[in-house]
Amino acid sequence: MSKRDYYEVLEVSKDASERDIKKAYKRLAMKLHPDRNAGDKDKEELFKEVKEAYEILNDDQKRAAFDQYGHAAFEQGGHGGGGHGGGGFGQDFGDIFGDIFGGGRGGGRQQRQQRGSDLRYNLELSLEDAVRGKTLEIKVPTFVSCEPCDGSGAKKGTSAKSCTTCHGHGQVQMRQGLFAVQQTCPTCSGKGKVIASPCTSCRGQGRVEKTKTLSVKIPPGVDTGDRIRLSGEGEAGEHGAPAGDLYVQANVRDHKIFVRDENNLYCEVPISFTTAALGGEIEVPTLEGKVKLKIPKETQTGKMFRLRGKGVKSVRSHSIGDLMCKVVLETPVNLSGDQADLLRQLDEKMGKSTIKHSPKETGFFDGVKKFFDDLKS
Ligand SMILES: [Zn+2]
Ligand SMILES: [Zn+2]
Repeated sequence: MSKRDYYEVLEVSKDASERDIKKAYKRLAMKLHPDRNAGDKDKEELFKEVKEAYEILNDDQKRAAFDQYGHAAFEQGGHGGGGHGGGGFGQDFGDIFGDIFGGGRGGGRQQRQQRGSDLRYNLELSLEDAVRGKTLEIKVPTFVSCEPCDGSGAKKGTSAKSCTTCHGHGQVQMRQGLFAVQQTCPTCSGKGKVIASPCTSCRGQGRVEKTKTLSVKIPPGVDTGDRIRLSGEGEAGEHGAPAGDLYVQANVRDHKIFVRDENNLYCEVPISFTTAALGGEIEVPTLEGKVKLKIPKETQTGKMFRLRGKGVKSVRSHSIGDLMCKVVLETPVNLSGDQADLLRQLDEKMGKSTIKHSPKETGFFDGVKKFFDDLKS
């Protein structure tokens, strides 16, 4: 039976965020967990499938490998993609590939067409840029194909010759007592070819270190953890091998006013206690400027107001979130003598009044009394 696509298993789209994947996994795991479905073999199989899919997709490197090679990435002897030490930059996916491909691929047999490493670039963004989208220039230190030799590594006019030690196999047989042992060819280091006159620009590597300037289009609505893949913009491979991919990972900086949760934005707005008591209109900030918000009379501190459609437009579904405004009552400071007198008069009047002015007070003091009574008993 052929394996189902991991995204299909988790019922998420190919560009699902880490959060979406976690959510989907939690939901399915709850539904399918063997503890809840005692003896149901089908559900148990599904649970295993879901767990496996989650383990791959929740891991950046494994997910990248799966995106690239599908299930073949996790089978013995799958596609090559082996690593070399990157230029001290970002994440060298190559090494990770080595791990998950297992030992089945070893030796130098497949080293000749080693694809360049994938790179990850962490892109810091302001909330505004993430919400509105932007085209940004990034500078990425990487390896690019060498121009003078066109990536071959051989001096112009010459070409690499088949290695005479291993006859182009990259492997040699060594005798050790009774046994014949396969070893990586020491002459060509397993490449099967020898460059007699190496290109001077790249010293025979076929690629050179260079800081590339790239233009990245950030789609509106991206959030921390979202990745944009630039195909073929990773490191060039050695000796003309194809380049890896570049993953630009968004990291949205904290904002002074807004906190984002999925597509909703949250903010706190201070209001005076007269506005809270009598009602009125206040101005609240949104990402598109100020809007007016009506405060009903007798509004208590901490009350949340929802401004529909003033949140973030989702990068995936294009649905728009809301802005949640929490009003916080401010106690007046720096009162003049007159102002303080007025407040005292007000307090006195309210104290004598038979009408209740503090909705929480009675309930609260009843609770306190009960608390102390319970302590005594
Ligand atoms: Zn050789
Ligand atoms: Zn060169």
